[in-house]
Amino acid sequence: MNSLQYVLPFVLTSVVIGLGAGYYMGWTRRSLRDREELSKQRNASVKVLSNLLSTTEELTADVDTHNMEIRQVGQDVVDTVVEGEMTSVQQRLLKQIASVLESNRKLEDDLTYARYRMEEQAQEIDRTRKEARTDALSGVANRKAFDEKLEMCVRDWRKHASPFVLVLADIDHFKWINDTHGHQAGDHVVGKLGEFLKTFLREIDFIARYGGDEFAILITGCELKRGADIAERIRARVAAAVFNVAAGQRASVTFSIGVATPEGEDDANRLIEKADHAMYRSKNVGRNKVHVYEETAEDNAYMLASG
Ligand code: GH3
Ligand code: MG
Repeated sequence: MNSLQYVLPFVLTSVVIGLGAGYYMGWTRRSLRDREELSKQRNASVKVLSNLLSTTEELTADVDTHNMEIRQVGQDVVDTVVEGEMTSVQQRLLKQIASVLESNRKLEDDLTYARYRMEEQAQEIDRTRKEARTDALSGVANRKAFDEKLEMCVRDWRKHASPFVLVLADIDHFKWINDTHGHQAGDHVVGKLGEFLKTFLREIDFIARYGGDEFAILITGCELKRGADIAERIRARVAAAVFNVAAGQRASVTFSIGVATPEGEDDANRLIEKADHAMYRSKNVGRNKVHVYEETAEDNAYMLASG
């Protein structure tokens, strides 16, 4: 009877563990169905899932330990020499222990499956999250991700004086590409430009498609002068590139670029305004140029010498 008292808590624990895992899995599945959730909630879900994952691992280890202990109890019962009517008690006890071991085996299977599902769901959340921040056509970050990153850069600049530079680059006469090669070819150029920009910018630089034919680049840890040089390099390399837009058709594009860095009381909107102003100065003086925003310069921007 004493052995039964020892075994029963394990059975109860197993049931509670099984119910707990089932409840958590149902909860996470429900949260996953809502694909429109804010990224903040997605982060929270990933955190919950990874916590659950560790819990599942701990539970699996616990069940292993319980199994060993129960087997030892079984061995003790087998080794106990009994006589008379105690023999049938011993047999019943061994039967009970065998059924507990079988329940635990099932529980181990369930935990393995729960773990597999949780890993799958965590990956799905990561994938969805990445998709929600990526521009499908160009493969670079989308406007939403850019707005967040810019706010973050402005905060870091205010708090830690970490300098950064914003580069806005708009394709020149892009309508002409659409008109002469077709809209699909235009799409192709946007896609190729996204890939191309990534090949010569650093991992830590942030590239986004800011609008239709406009890209925004955040160069972090960088003063205005160096940011302007990088922008000039971007301009020159894009101007020299040739893109295959359709069978037998090739096209070149140029960028008009505006460069700005935050100063004084600037916030994210003001910085965009400044870079936009400089970019339009590049458009106004013939395109395929880089202008740097400077308060004291004529028309608040100066042109960077090309070449
Ligand atoms: P500008 O030199 O003044 O910038 O002339 P632009 O022709 O590039 O004109 P603007 O920048 O004002 O307008 C961008 C045009 O690019 C409008 C639209 O026809 C085209 N466009 C915007 N987004 C896309 C896109 O995703 N795919 C394609 N194929 N074309 C686009
Ligand atoms: Mg344009």
